[in-house]
Amino acid sequence: METNSMILDGASVASEIKEELKERIARLTDKGITPCLATVLVGDDPASETYVRMKGNACRRLGMESKRIQMSGETTTGQLLAVIRELNADPTVHGILLQHPVPHHIDERAAFEAIAIEKDVDGVTTLGFAQTAFGFGLYPSCTPAAILAILDAYQLPLEGKHAVVIGRSPILGKPVSLMLLNRNATVTICHSKTNGLADIVKQADIVVAAVGKPKFVQGDWIKPGAVVMDAGYNPGNVGDVDYDACLGRASAITPVPAGVGPVTIATLLKHTVDAAERASARAV
Ligand code: NAP
Repeated sequence: METNSMILDGASVASEIKEELKERIARLTDKGITPCLATVLVGDDPASETYVRMKGNACRRLGMESKRIQMSGETTTGQLLAVIRELNADPTVHGILLQHPVPHHIDERAAFEAIAIEKDVDGVTTLGFAQTAFGFGLYPSCTPAAILAILDAYQLPLEGKHAVVIGRSPILGKPVSLMLLNRNATVTICHSKTNGLADIVKQADIVVAAVGKPKFVQGDWIKPGAVVMDAGYNPGNVGDVDYDACLGRASAITPVPAGVGPVTIATLLKHTVDAAERASARAV
């Protein structure tokens, strides 16, 4: 059965989020506060450098501050923790983003845990994750939040729907599964040890692909009329879904690029503005 797939335009959802932020940023600036996101990059992975640069540029375009901390690939866990603690103590910094992945010799979990909860704008600490799981997190991880923001922007219903999430990483698959569960979807989480993946995906009303493998999700896995959310971002601007093969089967689908990616960045900016407003309220 062929359907006309609605293209879920992440670029326009991101523009709306950023438009709403402009007034809030101006109000903070009037009070002498410029919302500031600190990005920490360890090593010289070119993809990570691009992501960090994109985030910094997005901040500046909106009149926010971005503080970039670049550390060498030889950085120790102790040195990284010291930098994060400095940023925690710096009142001009409102959000901290440690770019994943860090070099293997560093204890990434310890570094994430060092981020103060009020500056954990990407939901990477165990406390931030737990708050998301309970449904009252201030700052859920940005990509999961972006996926939900797109579904909501297009008023796609979640309650009672069977959502199949492929991937269980702490920043993507797991939190998005919990967020969908909190919105009354029935959620199946799949991973590399899942048996019969294609047959499980075929039952989904909503498919979230968070695998990290280009064009992994095949067109004939998609139940006609299902909603397909592609969080993947692989070299060459390719998602985790075989987009062309899913067009005509999915009722709605995110493209790559201009799908989940721009909304993820807009969400990061929004969380940083939220954090700046809360810091300002605490200061009075
Ligand atoms: P990750 O940490 O590598 O996790 C990948 C997940 O996929 C793991 O849970 C893994 O299962 C599962 N998986 C791998 N092979 C599989 C298979 N054959 N069948 C079923 N599941 C399989 O990746 P991530 O950080 O979550 O990122 C996932 C994707 O999202 C990547 O393409 C990444 O670039 C993209 N991403 C995009 C944004 C954005 O802003 N758009 C942000 C973050 C990430 P196991 O747990 O069993 O290993």
